[in-house]
Amino acid sequence: MQTKLADFIKDTPEGQEAEEILRACVHCGFCLAACPTYQLLGDELDSPRGRIYLMKQVLEGAPVTEKTQLHLDRCLTCRACETVCPSGVRYGRLVDIGRDIVEKRVGRDISSGAMRYILRQVLPKPGIFKALLKLGQSARPLLPLLPSRLRDSLPPSHTEHPHLSFWPPARHPRRMLVLDGCVQPALAPNINAAAARVLDRLGISLIKASSAGCCGAVSYHLNAQQEGLDYMRRNIDAWWPYIANQPGTEAEREASVEAIAITASGCGVMVKDYGHLLSRDSEYAEKAVRISEMAKDISEIIDAENQTLLALLNRVSIPDSEPKLAFHSPCTLQHGMKIRGAVEKILTTAGFQLTYVPDAHLCCGSAGTYSILQPELSEKLLANKVEALQSGAPARIATANIGCLMHLRGGAVLPVDHWIEILDEKIRRDDEKAHAASCRDEAEL
Ligand code: SF4
Ligand code: SF4
Repeated sequence: MQTKLADFIKDTPEGQEAEEILRACVHCGFCLAACPTYQLLGDELDSPRGRIYLMKQVLEGAPVTEKTQLHLDRCLTCRACETVCPSGVRYGRLVDIGRDIVEKRVGRDISSGAMRYILRQVLPKPGIFKALLKLGQSARPLLPLLPSRLRDSLPPSHTEHPHLSFWPPARHPRRMLVLDGCVQPALAPNINAAAARVLDRLGISLIKASSAGCCGAVSYHLNAQQEGLDYMRRNIDAWWPYIANQPGTEAEREASVEAIAITASGCGVMVKDYGHLLSRDSEYAEKAVRISEMAKDISEIIDAENQTLLALLNRVSIPDSEPKLAFHSPCTLQHGMKIRGAVEKILTTAGFQLTYVPDAHLCCGSAGTYSILQPELSEKLLANKVEALQSGAPARIATANIGCLMHLRGGAVLPVDHWIEILDEKIRRDDEKAHAASCRDEAEL
């Protein structure tokens, strides 16, 4: 695509990056069929090609209007278009740059601006979010601060069984850090605990860095990009003492880790991008690259321990003896991190049958804060996704990201859980069976 960027942007790093991306697009339109919003709305301007054209106009100095902003707002940033693009157009990066410019030019009306501000103040701050969640669980109708979509999907307050919160002590020489994240510890604390238990059985201890928190995605994708970068820097500072060969106390050196495990794919894709996003920060650039290299989705970690997992599962497992599952692969997993088939392989290895899910490449409509900011489109995508997931008559739905999990729970009649929780349950059941078998053997002697 020919480009002639305007003076305000052409010599900036963002302008140069955007120009390189724009020039890669050959306007072929292969991406249209993969785009959920184009499927729903049938408007070229709500397709990747149309949005690329809009952003080209903005970057070339054309007037920016609220209509431009609307079409960019409607984009889920699901990056399904990147997966199918034969020219390797990095649409996700382009839309980050385009949105930032449009936001500065057009602004927001008071209610939209206030909603975005509240989301940025509440979601990335676990203490505030947890307090509001508790309030919401005890007095749902009295909680005007939480958006209705989020309020509707609040989990009921209940006392968890102690085994679900059990976090094994750090007993192995192999250690990994875990990203605690922002909303996940309050909404589904079992997910990271389940990951810790599974990894413990595979000979790896999972540890937390207490001062790490939100990965920065919430602010960054709400066009508060500097705020998002500050969250990233805070996490790097929190994790750095655990990275091998770094100066620090003896205790910190002993606790050096081989990876940063992430159980929410929405956070994983962001942490893997720290190196790129902080590349112009002279203080953090090098560290950010290292952190991104060490960031692993939990499926990559478990997949790499396949032999140990197989030995653990083969004690009592009967192939295909587990209930049918439908797996929803989040966009951040399949399109963002380009991890495809790993979770499916692990679950199949564990004896679960996976049902066929039509249109598995399409977004469920969660997309970070999209379900709150674009509720109508999000609801339609949710209804389509739930129908697709339930079409193979599974007993349960598995996914790999807290946002998708909560969103799907709001629409599905079946239970929806993170796949690592399902694997953890399976290992625990196997333990009980193995224990019962050994008791029987002893009784027979
Ligand atoms: S598929 Fe890629 S090259 Fe073709 S129009 Fe879409 S973004 Fe451009
Ligand atoms: S990121 Fe998703 S919603 Fe946005 S243009 Fe690409 S396919 Fe469409």
